[in-house]
Amino acid sequence: MEIRYKSTRSDLEVTASEAILQGLSKDGGLFVPTQIPALDEDLNTLASMSYQELAYTVMSKFLTDFTEEELKYCINGAYDSKFDSPLIAPLKKADGAYYLELFHGTTIAFKDMALSILPYLMTTAARKNGVDQEIVILTATSGDTGKAAMAGFADVPGTRIVVFYPKDGVSYIQERQMVTQRGENTCVAAILGNFDDAQSAVKKMFGDPALNEKIGEAGFRFSSANSINIGRLVPQIVYYVYAYAQLVKSGEIKAGDLINITVPTGNFGNILAAYYAKLMGLPVKKLICASNVNKVLADFFETGEYDRKREFILTSSPSMDILISSNLERLIYRITGNESARCAAFMKDLSSKGEYCITDKMREGLKDFRGGFATEEENFAGIRELYEKTGYVIDTHTGIANAVYRRYAAETGDKTPTVIASTASPYKFAGSVVGAISHEKAEGKSDFELIDELRALSGVPEPPAITDIRTAPVRHETVTEIENMPDVVLKFLGLSDRA
Ligand SMILES: *Cc1c(COP(=O)(O)O)cnc(C)c1O
Repeated sequence: MEIRYKSTRSDLEVTASEAILQGLSKDGGLFVPTQIPALDEDLNTLASMSYQELAYTVMSKFLTDFTEEELKYCINGAYDSKFDSPLIAPLKKADGAYYLELFHGTTIAFKDMALSILPYLMTTAARKNGVDQEIVILTATSGDTGKAAMAGFADVPGTRIVVFYPKDGVSYIQERQMVTQRGENTCVAAILGNFDDAQSAVKKMFGDPALNEKIGEAGFRFSSANSINIGRLVPQIVYYVYAYAQLVKSGEIKAGDLINITVPTGNFGNILAAYYAKLMGLPVKKLICASNVNKVLADFFETGEYDRKREFILTSSPSMDILISSNLERLIYRITGNESARCAAFMKDLSSKGEYCITDKMREGLKDFRGGFATEEENFAGIRELYEKTGYVIDTHTGIANAVYRRYAAETGDKTPTVIASTASPYKFAGSVVGAISHEKAEGKSDFELIDELRALSGVPEPPAITDIRTAPVRHETVTEIENMPDVVLKFLGLSDRA
């Protein structure tokens, strides 16, 4: 059965490989599968598979125009010894919950799970579709996507990558990781604005006919590595099935038992993948969507009103500092009953008025979800408590999910086994994590002293991603105004009008 990909805003429809190549649909919509394939394998059989085997089982159902050979080449190239655990995504039990560690890839955040395979999927898709232009990946990042995308695309023939990040909106480690990036085909620029500004400007470049024509004449074409790309969403479904399989394998649950999944959420990509896993038939009860104080999503699930007209707050979970959660559009489309005209109207309201309100009928479609948010204080208190009880250290993003889940469990008495997506290594946010555990231990310390302190506290070895940036030279120093972002791209491609 072929699965095709349809825009959320019109009747445009393409194959899986075309959807991966295009990233965003030409009408500004996002591609969604025309149907969700069923997970019809026995859950006990899935429990005996390796990560790579499971990845093939799940992804082959969605990417139906890839051959077995092509898809296996992509999977085996991506999920190899770049990951520091042979399990790829290990599950750790602490204080009664299961933390799905998605940070064992090269840049120690969950973005590696999809961005280590996306370059393979994209170059394979280009070959399949006879594309001979050089692919230029444009990416807006709230900190983790940029580095993970560059690590994936660095020196991949036939590709270049340009990353924009908010100058004052990322952690010290995140910024160091990006500005030290190697690879002749990489370009990084800080922008004087926040993540939403960066994301909007990048979307504008994708839709700018003059800009696209100009680069097209020179043999380039744009594509996206942001989580709107279906090539990122599909690989993320795999690890939720894998988490379930690990619980069955270790005897924590029986095949068929329900689980909850809690996800620290920003752009709504990771939790949407969990939702797709549920729609495929994975036994999931609630999807708990955890926000930090930029709680547009928590408010949306509570009231049915999406309102981005509010102050943008910088927090210690910067990868979740987002007011426009792009992937929510895919859920909105679904709960309209797949009516692209209505979905397009909501998205138009969002961009022109900054808000939209869904109908009661649509709200019924949200019953699988539960929204919640945690403040900085609740986040830090939860990290400290988990550490004091168990010795297990989590990062500040996972901490938001942890705090929201613990409150949900206390309020509802729901004892369903719960998987918490652990989206970054605590080393990536060492300052905030050490500060959460002990004020005294954090006081007056430099960023690298904080890393030393974290190693002592957690007993977890320092990942190579951290060791590398202690000494790696800075290679990227561009800082730009938002309106000059296209110039940065043109200059990098050698197409600048200016000298
Ligand atoms: C990107 C990111 C998130 C948010 O994921 P979305 O798919 O954007 O919702 C959460 N935590 C970390 C560490 C991230 O890098």
